[in-house]
Amino acid sequence: MTNPILVFAETQDSKLKKSAIEVISEAKRQSDNLKAEVVAMLIGSGVEPLAKDAASYGAAKVIIIDGPDFKSYTTGAYTQALMAAVEKTKPQAIILSATSNGKDLAGSVAAELKTTAAQDCISLTYDNAFVARKPVYAGKAIITVKIAKQPAVITLRPKVFPASAPDASKSVSTEKLPVALSADSKRVTVKETVAAAKGKVSLTEADIIVSGGRGMKGPENFKILEELAGVVSAAVGASRAAVDSGWRTHDDQVGQTGKTVCPTLYVACGISGAIQHLAGMSSSKYIVAINKDPEAPIFKVANYGVVGDLFEVVPALCKELKK
Ligand SMILES: Cc1cc2nc3c(=O)[nH]c(=O)nc-3n(C[C@H](O)[C@H](O)[C@H](O)COP(=O)(O)OP(=O)(O)OC[C@H]3O[C@@H](n4cnc5c(N)ncnc54)[C@H](O)[C@@H]3O)c2cc1C
Repeated sequence: MTNPILVFAETQDSKLKKSAIEVISEAKRQSDNLKAEVVAMLIGSGVEPLAKDAASYGAAKVIIIDGPDFKSYTTGAYTQALMAAVEKTKPQAIILSATSNGKDLAGSVAAELKTTAAQDCISLTYDNAFVARKPVYAGKAIITVKIAKQPAVITLRPKVFPASAPDASKSVSTEKLPVALSADSKRVTVKETVAAAKGKVSLTEADIIVSGGRGMKGPENFKILEELAGVVSAAVGASRAAVDSGWRTHDDQVGQTGKTVCPTLYVACGISGAIQHLAGMSSSKYIVAINKDPEAPIFKVANYGVVGDLFEVVPALCKELKK
């Protein structure tokens, strides 16, 4: 057996996040080649029951750091917790999902370990060291990096690595790791968490996203996208122009300074396709663009394009889909 692969398994609403399942599944595939074990890490409050789920996707062992101090993510507390698990397991790699918290934690842990983090990777192989491919320059180029130093700190882009089928028969070995936070780790505390509207599909986990840009002309018109999204169980996203205009919250923004998404289907409505927007969505499996300007750059990345007025096309599409 070689040193284990340590996985940070992110949770939300008392469940493993889909992206955490993808990370455990990929770590298991890597560990099979390397003759290593996958150790999953659950950090939070009341997360212990999720150990069985982590095991069902391939974790041989689960380290649990549970307590009120870890109820909400803060960089300091979670870095100290993850570092405690690193000390304990001496992993050859630490793999996280490239979610907002995952990327933040990877950077912080890499700094503690005086190494670098390979962020937002879209493929992972092993050739005497982990080799990852990742987009750079807002998705204009893909680079291949060999991570020579151990432990390799890697984040995986959500929805790129397939989740394995769960095997509920897998037994789980758990270990609770007590962590007393230092004053330094407690510098930031979360005062309040505002939940997303009930029933709202999360942008980063959605299979279908319908996004609107400046072409929507005003916040009230997003209701036609909400309606379309409701029909196909999609999330609604937005370009920065729509967010900066105050039509949508920043939480909905897709792009370089917003979220990176990778749905099966991305429908861009009234979005020109600026490089900074493409950075967040160009790895979607299928892209449909609805734009009245046939020269709009979005058509260069779209699999299907509709040149037309979105205020005619979207309601017509919605009507057909309802049928
Ligand atoms: C550092 C930096 C970071 C940035 N980060 C982001 C980011 O994260 N995300 C992001 O999106 N942008 C980002 N931007 C901004 C980006 O450069 C663009 O300005 C922005 O994406 C444009 O948004 P848009 O496509 O909605 O608007 P526009 O470029 O104005 O395009 C509107 C489109 O709507 C079409 N249209 C208008 N009316 C209709 C209609 N009735 N029917 C159909 N089509 C219609 C037009 O033909 C046009 O193509 C960033 C910029 C910088 C400098």
